[in-house]
Amino acid sequence: MDLTVHTVAVIGAGTMGNGIAHVFAQAGYQVQLIDVEEAQLQKALATIEKNLDRQLAKEVITPAIKAETLSRIQLSTGLAEGVRNADLVVEAATENFGIKSGLFKQLDEAAPPHAILASNTSSISITKMAAVTRRPRSVIGMHFMNPVPVMKLVEIINGYATSKEVTDTTVAITKQLGKLPCVANDYPGFVANRILMPMINEAIWTLYEGVAGVEAIDSIMKLGMAHPMGPLQLADFIGLDVCLSILEVLHEGFGNPKYAPCPLLKNMVSAGFTGVKTGEGFYHYTAGSKELQVSQRFL
Ligand code: NAD
Repeated sequence: MDLTVHTVAVIGAGTMGNGIAHVFAQAGYQVQLIDVEEAQLQKALATIEKNLDRQLAKEVITPAIKAETLSRIQLSTGLAEGVRNADLVVEAATENFGIKSGLFKQLDEAAPPHAILASNTSSISITKMAAVTRRPRSVIGMHFMNPVPVMKLVEIINGYATSKEVTDTTVAITKQLGKLPCVANDYPGFVANRILMPMINEAIWTLYEGVAGVEAIDSIMKLGMAHPMGPLQLADFIGLDVCLSILEVLHEGFGNPKYAPCPLLKNMVSAGFTGVKTGEGFYHYTAGSKELQVSQRFL
């Protein structure tokens, strides 16, 4: 089977989709960026332009590279039409199994038979998504990190049925993007979130049990372990709702109480204090201010 990849369709033009479209286009691939919302597509294109301008200002790219990158991106709200010529599809739609399994059924119908179907999911089983298609050997996880143009790592996740040929091709493409692929098997949380989320959860338990305050916990982990930010700040950045849902996947998937989400995390999500995106989590975020202020609730 010819697995040469020229054309890539990216499904979902949100936080991750715009970054994924950006890096593929900059590496020379033709990109179809697809979303159900036209407004999301326009917002994604504006973000890609802004990020290219930042690279231009730092002299990482030339004006010609910016223009070529943008010229390789086409926007579409039509899934079937957008994936018709794709050699690789990278699904980066909302983290919800119902949405993703519906999408994988449609992609299987509409994409060429040779196309690889990849998902950028943080926690949903690749094997379960592959099982709704007639090509489980060609379904794989391609877990980019946020922000995509900056972060080097791509976690490549083999579903139970993924073929070696598909893994090898996906690894080679990742390297062409200038990224570092690391291959893992499809078990709950893969590698990154299986290790990161229990650390974040333990930091929240440490706060909940009154062992230390927000600043002390984050400073100890930041300065003591040379992490770029503390676990509570990182949780705010990822989104506390996202952290909770990944912990639930780990808890349910392994049936092990060690993954049980801390009641404080559950409470904060129920109350809508989900971190940076809502303006408050463990810290309070004021638009335009870079200063980190601990939320009044934890003082
Ligand atoms: P997001 O909410 O910013 O964007 C999701 C986009 O998908 C939206 O624009 C939405 O309109 C679109 N969408 C929903 N249903 C669709 C459909 N049927 N067809 C086409 N488009 C559809 O989400 P995000 O943060 O970009 O996350 C996308 C995926 O990437 C998720 O699987 C998430 O787990 C994963 N991920 C996110 C991060 C992160 O830090 N945000 C990191 C790694 C992986």
